Amino acid sequence: MGSSSVLPPETRRLEGKVALITGGASGIGASTARLFFKNGAKVVIADLQDEMGQSLCKELNPECTTFVHCDVTKETDVENAVNCAVSTYGKLDIMYNNAGIIGVKKTSILDNTQDDFEQVIKVNMLGPFLGTKHAARVMIPARKGCIINTASICSVIGGALSHGYTSAKHGVYGLVKNTAVELGKYGIRVNCVSPYVVPTPAAWDIFEPDANGVPPTIYSNLKGKNVVPEDIADAALFLASDDSKYVSGHNLLVDGGYTALNAGFCMYPQ
Ligand code: NAD
Repeated sequence: MGSSSVLPPETRRLEGKVALITGGASGIGASTARLFFKNGAKVVIADLQDEMGQSLCKELNPECTTFVHCDVTKETDVENAVNCAVSTYGKLDIMYNNAGIIGVKKTSILDNTQDDFEQVIKVNMLGPFLGTKHAARVMIPARKGCIINTASICSVIGGALSHGYTSAKHGVYGLVKNTAVELGKYGIRVNCVSPYVVPTPAAWDIFEPDANGVPPTIYSNLKGKNVVPEDIADAALFLASDDSKYVSGHNLLVDGGYTALNAGFCMYPQ
């Protein structure tokens, strides 16, 4: 059991909270599960990868973490995952809609089939919709809650990934803004975190790591630093904790300034 890795009580930022993380078995979701647990949260990991999710729960503390098999494109699975959090730990304070896929690598719209497009939209856009809906179902009566989504730099710019991926991530930010407006009257905050390229299995689907196993940070604006999944987990922790109690409808870019720069026309030498 890893309960000794929990921080001392006075420094825990999610003490007493219950969090559900989709896509929590790998990459950004797994880093966030570790950090939320360290900060005193009970964590439900919802993912397709049963073995990885279960072994992460074992690594942390099986009494404070639970794995539930969940395909975020199926409403009954998402409903069940939310119900699992409530029946196991009594409530749901934090819903992190993080599961996502890169989808096909075909670049031209002429090569993309309807199935290619729908596949990525279903996981990356319908998934957060269903997660937000079922989290709201239990958070509205509680008159509080916090919903976070993993979007991407592709939520604000075009051309970095496929049409389906970019459309889905813009859609996630739209969903965040719309639901933040609707759910604010219940004290529920809704935000998203938007990473640049982070070294996870998903990133290696599209980018070759360099000799040190890091993604192509060369394209980013902040030189000499490499983004890691823990950086995104830190942003999610900020959005999940009371440190951001007045932040809602926000897209927190964690991109080393990538989206602030248009290298095609820039007065500063790069
Ligand atoms: P990852 O592949 O390590 O993790 C994604 C997790 O989602 C996996 O555990 C996978 O099993 C799960 N998943 C996939 N489809 C699912 C489904 N239908 N139902 C339930 N779970 C499912 O990748 P990651 O990089 O940690 O990705 C997490 C999120 O971050 C995604 O939304 C991704 O789009 C986003 N993102 C990643 C990067 C990056 O460079 N890695 C950059 C920007 C945004």
